[in-house]
Amino acid sequence: RTFAEIDMGKALNDNIRRCKYVKPTPVQRHAIPVAMAGRDLMACAQTGSGKTAAFCFPIISGLLRGNVLGKPRRGGARVAYPLALILSPTRELSCQIHEEVKKFSYQTGVKVVVAYGGAPISEQFRNLERGVDILVATPGRLVDMIERTRVSLSMVKYLVLDEADRMLDMGFEREIRKIVERMEMPPPGARQTMLFSATFPTEIQRLASDFLTRYIFLAI
Ligand code: AMP
Repeated sequence: RTFAEIDMGKALNDNIRRCKYVKPTPVQRHAIPVAMAGRDLMACAQTGSGKTAAFCFPIISGLLRGNVLGKPRRGGARVAYPLALILSPTRELSCQIHEEVKKFSYQTGVKVVVAYGGAPISEQFRNLERGVDILVATPGRLVDMIERTRVSLSMVKYLVLDEADRMLDMGFEREIRKIVERMEMPPPGARQTMLFSATFPTEIQRLASDFLTRYIFLAI
């Protein structure tokens, strides 16, 4: 099957064609149908496998179908309410994901913002003030923004933990748990969570059982 045969909404399918993605990689072939069906997902996949598109296509498609874009979000004007959150371990990876998600959100109305540590927070606040649907962030910087009440996770419908094993290696477990606790406890299935990791040690299995609901396990 090619991407053209998978209906992800015209705007997204057009962007995929424009970016010259024709055939899904193995992780995309398996993860996209599962994620498009709304299921939680734990996938063992390496960098370079195409996992970014595997999680961002279903999110963009879901946001386009969900009739939620551009609707006023509750709360103060200075509080950002993302609908999707992608957590990644480093600035470099966050920026790569941001670029990829932007390419595929082109002219869809989906707003994408990146936030990472080691750079002025004020500039990132300004980006958030222009509106955000998909937030790509490193855990430490996001906790900082939440504690300053500039970001609320109460409307997050899609959560991605990318390179979860690296995030744990870097000591982000406390931040990750704090972040997920900030999300309104959903009725099972209300939030869709996707966990990507190159390895699957017991600590990752524990995260999966704590954060995912009736999830599909993919080993590519
Ligand atoms: P990732 O593993 O998500 O970092 O992707 C690795 C690289 O492969 C990136 O440069 C992507 O733009 C590219 N890529 C991912 N999926 C496809 C695809 N289906 N067709 C062509 N290139 C792709």
